Amino acid sequence: MLPDRGRKGRESRIFGRTAPFGGRSGRLIGVRTSWTTVCDGEFFCPGCGGDRNYQRRTGRRRFVFLGVPLLSRGETGPVVECAACQDHFGLEALDHPTTVRLSTMLRDAVHTVVLAVLTTGGSAARAALDAAVTTLRGAGFDDCTEERLGALVDALAADTGRLAEPDCVPGLAIELHEALGPLAPHLAPAGREALLLQGARIALADGPYTPAERDVLATAGCALTIDPDDVARLLVAATRTPR
Ligand SMILES: [Zn+2]
Repeated sequence: MLPDRGRKGRESRIFGRTAPFGGRSGRLIGVRTSWTTVCDGEFFCPGCGGDRNYQRRTGRRRFVFLGVPLLSRGETGPVVECAACQDHFGLEALDHPTTVRLSTMLRDAVHTVVLAVLTTGGSAARAALDAAVTTLRGAGFDDCTEERLGALVDALAADTGRLAEPDCVPGLAIELHEALGPLAPHLAPAGREALLLQGARIALADGPYTPAERDVLATAGCALTIDPDDVARLLVAATRTPR
C-alpha cells in the first residue's frame, strides 16, 4: 500500500494510515517512514496525467512510540513520487515515455519508415519524393523539401550501397527495429497501422509495390508488432485507398 494523497505532509499522511494500535488519533504509536531521494527526472504521471517532475525515493520504516522512533521495520520502496500530485507509483511508471519523448519517437519513426521505403524502392522517383515530403511535413519536419530529401536518400545510398541491394539489407532492418520497437508498445493498434500505411502510400506513389518495398514494409510491420496477416491486409488496403 502506498501513502494516501494529502496536504498534511509526508509524515502525517503515513502516520495516520499506518498506526495499527489505534492510539486515540493514531499519532502516538505507529510506523513512520522516512524517505530518501535517490534521483529525480521527468516522467508521465499516471495519477495526474501529464509530464511531471518526479523523485525516486527509498524509505526506512521505524516503529514509533510517543513520537520517538524505536525499532527498525526495514526498508520500503523504491517508489516514484510525482512532484505535482505527490502520489507514489512503482518504478514501472518510468517505463512510459513522457508525451514530449513520445512525440519525438513518433517523428523519428515516421522519418525512418519514409527513408527505408525510399531507399529500397530504387532511385527515388519524383512522385515518391512528393509523397514522402508531404508525409514528413505532416509529421512535423516543416523544413523538409524534395531537394533535401532527395540528397539525403542519395547520400544514404552512397554510404551504404542500399540502392544496389535487391532486398532489405540487415542494417536497414536493424534501423527499423531500433526506431519502431521501443515505440510500438505505447501506440494503439490504429497508430501502429497508420505508421505502416504511411510507408505503404509512399511505396505506391510511383507504382505497384516492388519486392524490395514489400520486404521493407513487412520488416516495418514486424518491428511494429503487427501480425504478418494484418500487414498483408493493410498493404492491399493501401492500394485501394492511396490517399
Ligand atoms: Zn502526478
